[in-house]
Amino acid sequence: MHRLSSYLGGTWQPGQGQAAVLVNPATEAPLAEVAAAGGLGEALQWARRTGGANLRALSWRERGERLGALATLLHGAREELIAIAVANGGNTRGDAKFDIDGAIGVVAGYASIAAGLHGGHLVDGEAAPLHKGSKLRAQHVLTPRQGAAIHINAFNFPAWGMLGKFAVAFAAGVPVVSKPATSTAMLAARIAELVLAPGVLPEGAFQLLLGPAGDLLDHVGPQDVVAFTGSADTGARIRGHARVLGTNARVNIEADSLNAAVIGPDVRSGTELFDLIVRDCAIELTQKAGQKCTATRRILVPTALLGELRDAVVGRLAATAARTGDPADDSNRMGPLSSAAQQRDARAGVATLGARTSRVLGDPERRNFAGVADGVGYFLEPILLEATAEDALDPAAPFHHHEVFGPVATLLPYDGGVQTAAQIVAAGEGSLVGTLYSDDREFTARATVALAPHLGRLVLACEKIAAASLAPGCVFPVANHGGPGRAGDGAELGGQHGLELYLQRTTLQGGAAELARLLSAESPKPAD
Ligand code: NAP
Repeated sequence: MHRLSSYLGGTWQPGQGQAAVLVNPATEAPLAEVAAAGGLGEALQWARRTGGANLRALSWRERGERLGALATLLHGAREELIAIAVANGGNTRGDAKFDIDGAIGVVAGYASIAAGLHGGHLVDGEAAPLHKGSKLRAQHVLTPRQGAAIHINAFNFPAWGMLGKFAVAFAAGVPVVSKPATSTAMLAARIAELVLAPGVLPEGAFQLLLGPAGDLLDHVGPQDVVAFTGSADTGARIRGHARVLGTNARVNIEADSLNAAVIGPDVRSGTELFDLIVRDCAIELTQKAGQKCTATRRILVPTALLGELRDAVVGRLAATAARTGDPADDSNRMGPLSSAAQQRDARAGVATLGARTSRVLGDPERRNFAGVADGVGYFLEPILLEATAEDALDPAAPFHHHEVFGPVATLLPYDGGVQTAAQIVAAGEGSLVGTLYSDDREFTARATVALAPHLGRLVLACEKIAAASLAPGCVFPVANHGGPGRAGDGAELGGQHGLELYLQRTTLQGGAAELARLLSAESPKPAD
């Protein structure tokens, strides 16, 4: 079987020991295998010494140009990458494009952000007098850290997860060791081959670790950045790792999220806004078979609108349920979950939520899907659950703390009040994204203030912009990605803010004239 290789310390390594087999989750056919790689401490040293020096020798503009060229290169390989995502990720063509085009978009986005910056460090804000009347000033500057960026990614976005993190670190001048999730690693491995082709990146700027993380974190240093995306459990293990704690290496966690959509009390059926809500709910539930950290899991609907919304959403989902099957057939609208373990966990999750919900649509045990023999593939059809208004208010209810990572969402009826909506959203204990659908400006203003502390991003949708509105699960390089609490309290992307994860903030404290002179000149490249 084809063995995928890691790229560490400047060489391709097939790995050793027991190999994990990567499969097509629709047909269960084996596709490739990966095995554990060694020499991870040396790989981090190579990143810090060779990669870091090479990256910091380039200006912001030069790093931006390299990213721009990489975006073009990846775009040229798009069809090949889509085919891999369909085969190993269970993605429909649309799902694959969402991941791959999104990834190329972040690379291109940070190419232009870097191209607009200059100097060895970034000047952050205005110089402030140390006290009233003082000639002394404090000026914050941001300089690339001299460690490695360790990127550990989830299975659901092998392209966007890897390249989205890489582009920001590269723009900031920090070399990357990237570890994709094992079950869907074929796409990440192929992208890595493209990225590592001779002449694309400076030596040491990017390394790929396939298979388990092994002892990688035992070699973390104080200038390193660990950026993790995945489950809250693994995130907690990484945050609590003895060496990570001991060195105070910087850590960013992007974890689970029980994202909510809040439908305002003014929304009526028969409007464009109502149609948008139905479309968004269906997209968020079924895109990537619901395996999206930004998927809407809780739909807050005013009691008076519940029946009409339920019927409309069920209509859309039933059409997708009928066309759930092998994504190699373009007429299928939804593919399988990515592994047997994900299917098992999602089915168990539906049972957990079942304790406090009724099932409106979907059979978690369904075994016949389009294009495959009965019982083959890790499929789960779209499942819509519904709670009572009383249960919706109970913070202990499972739909507020158990993320079913599949095509599953719960309707939560509420009284249409801002405080009730905020109470229900807050029961999720921190989310990546929320959506507010309303034309009532006062409701929107009050709800924005009440919801924002619980969210990393809030999508505001109303009748006027319904035609232009994008589903809340779309993440853009200019928009913050990350949420408080359960979502990991991380922050990635967000335009220039995203660079800060890889930069050290230093206060320069000195005379006003001297600081102004120092910072007005083009800063020298730091000595390596
Ligand atoms: P996971 O099981 O936590 O795995 C995530 C990554 O961590 C994988 O690369 C995994 O490697 C690695 N890993 C596992 N144990 C580790 C350890 N002890 N030390 C270092 N690395 C370790 O998560 P997943 O199942 O891939 O992803 C699904 C979850 O990710 C969902 O909960 C979803 O909400 C979340 N997610 C969040 C975001 C976000 O931006 N907030 C985005 C996507 C997904 P192996 O695959 O080799 O085990």
